[in-house]
Amino acid sequence: MIVIDLQLCKGCGICQKECPNKAVFIENKKAVVRENCSSCGICTRVCPVQAATRSARKQGAVKCSSCPVQCEILEGYLGACRRYQNVNGQLVRNRKLVTEVSQDGPLITAVGAGTNYPCCRPAPHIVQDTVDGVEVVTVVTEAPLSYSGVKVKIDTNLYIGEEGSKVKREGKVVGMVDTEEYGSKMLSVGGANLLTGQDGFIVARTIVEIANGERVKLKVEEGSALELQVGHPPVINGVEDTKMRVGCGSATIGMFAAHLKEVVDEAIILDHHVVGLLSEHLAGEAVGMSWSGVIPNARKSTRGRYFGEPGHGWGGTSIENPEVAIKSVDMSVAKAGIKILVTETTAQKAALFRVRNDGSVQEIPITPDVRKVIELIAGNCEKAMVSALYTGGTGGSARAGVAAHPIKVTQAVHNGAARLTIGGAPAFVFPGGGINFMVDVQKVVPKAFTWVPAPATVAPVEYTMTRQKYEEIGGHIKSIKRLSEFKESKVVLTRKEQ
Ligand code: SF4
Ligand code: SF4
Repeated sequence: MIVIDLQLCKGCGICQKECPNKAVFIENKKAVVRENCSSCGICTRVCPVQAATRSARKQGAVKCSSCPVQCEILEGYLGACRRYQNVNGQLVRNRKLVTEVSQDGPLITAVGAGTNYPCCRPAPHIVQDTVDGVEVVTVVTEAPLSYSGVKVKIDTNLYIGEEGSKVKREGKVVGMVDTEEYGSKMLSVGGANLLTGQDGFIVARTIVEIANGERVKLKVEEGSALELQVGHPPVINGVEDTKMRVGCGSATIGMFAAHLKEVVDEAIILDHHVVGLLSEHLAGEAVGMSWSGVIPNARKSTRGRYFGEPGHGWGGTSIENPEVAIKSVDMSVAKAGIKILVTETTAQKAALFRVRNDGSVQEIPITPDVRKVIELIAGNCEKAMVSALYTGGTGGSARAGVAAHPIKVTQAVHNGAARLTIGGAPAFVFPGGGINFMVDVQKVVPKAFTWVPAPATVAPVEYTMTRQKYEEIGGHIKSIKRLSEFKESKVVLTRKEQ
């Protein structure tokens, strides 16, 4: 049980905020612990003055052995992971095994299976059935993974911050801005070191909330405020971004050069990565153009391609006023009266300019033919969306719950003899040693992930292979149950077609 030293307690409320069971409250500026406390120990680790301590075992509580935290749970209450409930003195997994498994998925999913900890015991469910005349085995467990995180993809041209910047939640570091790939910003949230660090609990909670499709507010250090929810458009500094760019500025020129050439003499496509200049670009040349004399306000890379400066302006560049995108016009090359279009790779903002005799420019109304090309570019953009891959390493001790020879489990996964699925969804397994995987959280059974205050996230893991292969790798043959036995015990339903 948890005891609060009232002399030390400052009533700061940190324990109240972090308690997963909402079992602490502040009364008369002191922490008070309720009966639903499961002695998970989070408060003892977050209290800045060590006022909360774990003392003797709680009278009448059942100790949970499903993870190293070993919560003590009184009748009717839940453990800190919210998975196990004390029902009449028995700990019961409070979610049924999920039944909807696709035709080519595992025999059952691990969602709701529970965990056998420590992993030297066989996995909670090892199921056998005949599929297309072949005996197939699926081994499932909800594995606590301290080597885990989410890679979050944010489709946006808006500036979110420098690569490598810390990503924070409620002021705590939960990840970092990763590289930028195909115009999307990537975040890495979690990872073993952050999970086991000072703020591991909020890191675990953040990974799980993102993976389960909940809305999460994050802040990039010296960058933008982010509101992210998988499957929804990103909200950056309070603005919802609706369109994903069609490509970088150069790619936009490449795709639409023929259309642009028909309506303008020059186009500058602003983009925080590569700004495109139509007439100088190889695509411009390919459609019969030669350099117009227009010089864009960006750093030259190669023909018609310029590096943009990231910022909060057009196309995610620092340019807030489109006229500034035109650095100068070389009138020894250019002709007065030529038309220059300045737009973004999403074509959400656009402006048209005419060149005066002295090389200065004047904004003019966008003509209907130019408008059509702008709409063509915008119409080829996809919806901006937040997506995420849960990443984990399940090659550790959890393999012992699958078979007596852990390395044979790894080998079977790598050589394709055993298929790894996470909550019913196919996982991509990284080459090399161990079983490091990635899975699209939108393909996994809804709300499949949980966390324990080890801290670690809990992922549903399924290994499916032939019975013959399972015997070969030293599988726990005695623990196998036929799918029909599960049906009888009403623990689990079955594959969709049955
Ligand atoms: S031990 Fe866990 S459940 Fe109990 S009060 Fe502390 S944080 Fe809450
Ligand atoms: S975190 Fe510690 S000091 Fe703050 S209210 Fe809880 S027990 Fe008291």
